[in-house]
Amino acid sequence: MMEVSAARETVLRFAAPLPAQITPLSSPALGQVLAVDVASDVDSPPFAKALMDGYAVRAADLAGGPVALKLVGEVAAGAMPTVAVGPGDAVAVYTGAPLPDGADAVVVKERCEVTGRTVTATDTALTPGKNVLARAAEMRAGDVVIPTGTVLTPTAYGLLAAVGKTAVLAIPRPRLVVVATGDELVEPAMKPRGGQIRNTNGPMLMAQAASAGALPRYLGVCPDDAETMASYVREGLEIADVLVFAGGVSAGKFDLVPEVLAAHGVTVHFHHVRMKPGKPLLFGAKGKTLVFGLPGNPVSAFVGFELFVRPALRALGGHQHSGPRERRYPLAEALTARHDRPTYHPARIDFAAGVVRPLPWFGSADLRALLGANALIVLPAGEVNLNAGEMANVVFAHG
Ligand code: AMP
Ligand code: MG
Repeated sequence: MMEVSAARETVLRFAAPLPAQITPLSSPALGQVLAVDVASDVDSPPFAKALMDGYAVRAADLAGGPVALKLVGEVAAGAMPTVAVGPGDAVAVYTGAPLPDGADAVVVKERCEVTGRTVTATDTALTPGKNVLARAAEMRAGDVVIPTGTVLTPTAYGLLAAVGKTAVLAIPRPRLVVVATGDELVEPAMKPRGGQIRNTNGPMLMAQAASAGALPRYLGVCPDDAETMASYVREGLEIADVLVFAGGVSAGKFDLVPEVLAAHGVTVHFHHVRMKPGKPLLFGAKGKTLVFGLPGNPVSAFVGFELFVRPALRALGGHQHSGPRERRYPLAEALTARHDRPTYHPARIDFAAGVVRPLPWFGSADLRALLGANALIVLPAGEVNLNAGEMANVVFAHG
């Protein structure tokens, strides 16, 4: 049986970044990874620019003490100066206005008294460059301002706009397809009857996929019937970068996913991982499509997604760090456990206090315990006796 780390390495070997596509910025590419260096086509600012409302002056004019300057003109944002600032001159400027020739600083209007055409400026500490952004201080035409590999954040959008880009080459969102399996499942709108339960994995995995930046698509509940399952496998393989089956991967009589996948040419790279919950997790591939079979218990499905599917989605999406993020935190309380496999225990990190608290948990069918969790404590196999304050390994759970 594979260890978690080896299993994840196996998955990542099959998860090369998807080919980049031209992405118009009018449709949301937030969170996607840029696949090209973006250079500026302009200097920014394109002119020395006033950063405050006030008067463009020669700083040296003010050095000797309060001075009466001659008001010779005015420049608003969007206008071009029509007069230069000579010795003893002042030109009224407004935030964003180009600085007139001859001026080297802006004295703020709060430090000036104006009577008629006379501006008495009292800011004797004014130095050249004060309240002015020099031409091209932010960027020069030709500068690479957004390098390849940058995640498209709102800031990146603003910069793309500043350099005139309306479309960019970016790694597309991986298409993820979810199939829930099980004769016992009914969709959430239904009231479960004798032997039935609601399908929680479908909506949960769709939401996890969306939160990982994938394009999720839900194919529905597949009964535990090989023939019907085959049609789901065929459709999923056709449309998915990542095909996720939930349930039906264990060793029971009705666990048909492994054999149906194999019958459709999916090469299984591992089946079973030394972990709890979620041991029967399956990973395979056919062509460029990655295929996961997650155990059906909701906590197992959740954990399996976080440990293997999310990293795969990040790698396919071109992200440098595929995760999951792992850290050590001191325990908020003592923790004793005894498991035959490494165990991922729902927990809550209190970031303000800098501690992690294990949450009460009844095992892989107890999804409710996960609601308040933002992390999983990784417990090694065997006897664990940790005191409050001792360090525990945690992985961050996104949900
Ligand atoms: P399986 O992995 O198919 O053997 O399922 C393990 C357990 O998880 C069983 O108790 C199933 O009823 C339950 N289960 C499977 N799929 C789902 C699902 N989509 N939503 C909620 N529970 C499920
Ligand atoms: Mg089942």
